[in-house]
Amino acid sequence: MSQSRALVTGGAGFLGSHLCDALLAEGYSVIAVDNLLTGRQSNLHHLRNETRFELREIDVNQPFDCGKVDYVFHFASPASPVDYTVHGIATLKVGSLGTFHALDIAHRYGAKYLVSSTSESYGDPLEHPQKETYWGNVNPIGPRSVYDEAKRFAEAVTMAYHRYHEVDTRLARIFNTYGPRMQLNDGRVIPNFMKQALRGEDLTVYGDGSQTRSFCYVSDEIEGFLRLAKSAEHLPVNIGNPTEFTILECAKRVLAVTVSKSKIHHQPLPVDDPKQRCPDITKAKALLGWEPKIDLESGLRLSLEYFRKALQEENANHARSSD
Ligand code: UDP
Repeated sequence: MSQSRALVTGGAGFLGSHLCDALLAEGYSVIAVDNLLTGRQSNLHHLRNETRFELREIDVNQPFDCGKVDYVFHFASPASPVDYTVHGIATLKVGSLGTFHALDIAHRYGAKYLVSSTSESYGDPLEHPQKETYWGNVNPIGPRSVYDEAKRFAEAVTMAYHRYHEVDTRLARIFNTYGPRMQLNDGRVIPNFMKQALRGEDLTVYGDGSQTRSFCYVSDEIEGFLRLAKSAEHLPVNIGNPTEFTILECAKRVLAVTVSKSKIHHQPLPVDDPKQRCPDITKAKALLGWEPKIDLESGLRLSLEYFRKALQEENANHARSSD
């Protein structure tokens, strides 16, 4: 029997690269495509001698075809608020054009399809915690709209291909996820706090720090995707950790794990920054038998070595460029 082949768009990104690893571990052959806008080849460097793996530099906003596949995982998109603000139009394009092209491949080859959607579909939620049935409170024209509306549109196109073309689709709504391979400078809260704490700089808490987030360690998140991919559920499923922290609490956890003497420095809250975010994962538990296992403190400890090394590399690069 021939081996199942999976396509991962955004395969050089944080989640995409971990997904490639997990699919290879499950016995798939994997083709990753990425335009390397925010993804990095270094995330896949350890797979360079893996015969079942291939990375192609492709922009999925153009029609593309990498041959027959059994699974399509559409993970291409800038994902941090800093990245999607810098690359706003590219973000809208990959959520729209890129999603059409990924779905066209699934349709052409009769492949199963899973798209990475987001808790940002709920916007600044008025329902708490957020269930999949909540339609959200999204500002369609604010600075975050390039991401939020791109992902909401991606969900709409996905459901349309399911309804009109009978593509076997799945929608994962991803909540804040962290771990090794996050870019040190992508602006998200965990890399920022880890970097600042390890450098002994002030931790930049935006606003009064009372806004909440619920952080899922990357290995838990990927396990959720694999289970969802194997399920027959076409409607959205929240994949996230339901333990909620204020950003101030999160800063204190990072200080404890890094044994840092850094202080906390408050900065202005970004426009439309959601006040609270926490997944209701009742559906994922019942449907997939899945729930996260790694709490924030353990996950931060598991990430510490990666962030230390990333910081050392950044320091070495600075030293080289100023030589
Ligand atoms: N945040 C912060 N300091 C930082 C980076 C982020 O206080 O250095 C806050 C941000 O305002 C938000 C939360 O942390 O309330 C999570 O931000 P992130 O950019 O990680 O992702 P988001 O959940 O907003 O998409």
